[in-house]
Amino acid sequence: MNRSASILEELWRRLPDLRSQVYFKSALTALSHAMEDQALATPGPSLIIANFQQERFYRQEAQRYRRIAEHSDQVYVLAAPETSFASGSEDYEKIAFDPSDSLSNEWHLVVINRLYSICLVCRERQLSDGGEADNVSMPSSMDQTRRFEGVWTFNPQVCWHAADLMLERIADYRPELEEKLAAARAQYLQVPPAESPDTEPPNVDPDPFASRLMTYLQAGQYKLIKAYRSIALKERRERLVNLISSAIRQTLDPTQIFAVAVRELGQALQAERSLIYSCHSQDQQVTIEHEFLAQSSVPSLVNQAWSLEAPPIRAVIESLEAIAIDDTTGVDTAGADDNSALDLASLRPTLKRLQICSWLVVPIVHQGNLLGMIELHRSDIQQGWTSYERELVEAIAVQLGLSLIQAEAYANLGSLNQQLEALERTRSNLIAITGHELRTPLSTIQVCLESLASEPDMPLELRQVMLSTALEDAERMRKLVQDFLTLSQLESGRVQWHMEALPVEECVELALSSLKARQRNEDLPSIKIQVPDELPLVRADGEWLVEVLSKLLDNACKFTESPGEVSIEAHRNERGMLEVTVADTGRGIEPNRLDAVFDRFYQEEGALRRTAGGTGLGLAICRQVILNLGGQIWAESAGRGQGSQFHFTLPVVPPRGRSGDRSSPKQGNKSKGTKRKGAKRGNRAKA
Ligand code: ADP
Repeated sequence: MNRSASILEELWRRLPDLRSQVYFKSALTALSHAMEDQALATPGPSLIIANFQQERFYRQEAQRYRRIAEHSDQVYVLAAPETSFASGSEDYEKIAFDPSDSLSNEWHLVVINRLYSICLVCRERQLSDGGEADNVSMPSSMDQTRRFEGVWTFNPQVCWHAADLMLERIADYRPELEEKLAAARAQYLQVPPAESPDTEPPNVDPDPFASRLMTYLQAGQYKLIKAYRSIALKERRERLVNLISSAIRQTLDPTQIFAVAVRELGQALQAERSLIYSCHSQDQQVTIEHEFLAQSSVPSLVNQAWSLEAPPIRAVIESLEAIAIDDTTGVDTAGADDNSALDLASLRPTLKRLQICSWLVVPIVHQGNLLGMIELHRSDIQQGWTSYERELVEAIAVQLGLSLIQAEAYANLGSLNQQLEALERTRSNLIAITGHELRTPLSTIQVCLESLASEPDMPLELRQVMLSTALEDAERMRKLVQDFLTLSQLESGRVQWHMEALPVEECVELALSSLKARQRNEDLPSIKIQVPDELPLVRADGEWLVEVLSKLLDNACKFTESPGEVSIEAHRNERGMLEVTVADTGRGIEPNRLDAVFDRFYQEEGALRRTAGGTGLGLAICRQVILNLGGQIWAESAGRGQGSQFHFTLPVVPPRGRSGDRSSPKQGNKSKGTKRKGAKRGNRAKA
């Protein structure tokens, strides 16, 4: 016998008038089950031949066939092996056919007993309308819609031929069953039935069969509905996630993304109110900006403060896990999974006013950090939160988290770009200015030295002038290079700070004596010191503090002509910081230049026309130092000719350590500080 021949086609060949019909798999399953049940319910044995196509379809029914085999010894089960199915004789005869056999594409069930015959001979329709195989990569939920064509009938003649063909095929695979198969033929297929396929009515009550068939069909339909419902839910979820993802792709603005998300979520989950807001774990409340209301009768929360201290919200903030409360009106929070500890009693009036009967709170989290929250409120407790709804909101929360992170990264990138541009501008300016600052004294030195070299007869006084001009400019260059290096060190954060508790007056004294030593021959204005003894100690690096004081004093003296006056004053300000002021009665500063004086190379005459000496870097250094010491520095002046005041603040040492630090080791402190300063100053000069 030809193993690849189709049983259905063979049947058609024998009975050309046989009409075929199309069946969905769900219908065939129902039919097969009804036929099997009928066989089980029929007294006496039956010949039962079942072809399952593939081993996997057989496996689901193996148990049922074991039961059927208890009623009859003529039960044959055929399938194409996939893993363990093999030919053999256990409870019933198993025939593992060649997978290339056309049996693997057909579904047969033949039942013949003394009361009736019934058979189902079908073949799977391989091509769909689009030309693809019906069962290629079909989701399991769609398996029920596989289509078959063939016959299902009680007609004894058709059943006889179907059984005959099947037994022939079995004999081909299992020749050792020859005797058993002959017995089957002798018992069930002895006389070929009458010619006409339509005449003989089945000798069986059709009612139980019909009602069984109905039950199985209904069950199949129910499965289909379930499958479609799950597909519809998946589709809805995907649509929502896609909608929000595409909003994220179109804009980096979280406001716009939140606006879309809050509306879509509210509508999809049929919530009376939905809220989306940004927040952090330490926030206690937020102002609501994004809200969706299903009806205008629900009170709006827009522009209102929304407390994050409410128990469910706080619990979500702490656990970073969603909380779903089905019924907020109950005595406890029944329905809130594992959240029975939440006490909503204090919230009852608010929940009632805002009509929050069911509450879903889902955090927006990125890498363990809380970025925001999604809340859905329903006024109907009947409709609890399903796990599907919760998962949907969680999926949206993930998308929103990504959008927030993207927006933040974009904003950071923007400000980083601006900083880079500003740095680039500063760098170019700096190169231009530094070049000029160094060239000017260098040119002077060069001219002086060339004149001295080329004019040996130059008068002695002129020679002296040339030499001292060259020396002055060399000194200016040295200071410039030193200040420049100091500032670069400060700006690049390469300075090691040695913080300690210091009495400010000691630093003032040191700054003053170094000023006097440097300007021994110059006419200094009178300098007044008002630094009370009882001031608290400051926490600072002594060397740098003296440096700041020296620079401010230098400037005050430089820009104050006699008989002007310079003063140094210190007090504890209203913020508890120690505030030091270096004031003078000199030339003053235009109010609109009060900030600019702290810029590098700022000089009133303009960066490229210096006349007053100095490097233009002193105040920039002072600002860097004071900021690093945790204080602030600023200038005040009533304007031109009105004198200037330079103020800076420093943190004071906490009260407990103050008296001890101050009383006994004052002397020690002082000498230690002075010694260390000397050592460090030497180091820096080298640098
Ligand atoms: P330098 O004094 O070396 O030029 P600074 O950075 O110390 O550099 O000061 C920058 C500029 O600020 C000075 O050139 C001057 O125009 C202005 N300035 C600083 N201190 C005073 C002051 N006490 N009175 C008036 N102007 C001042």
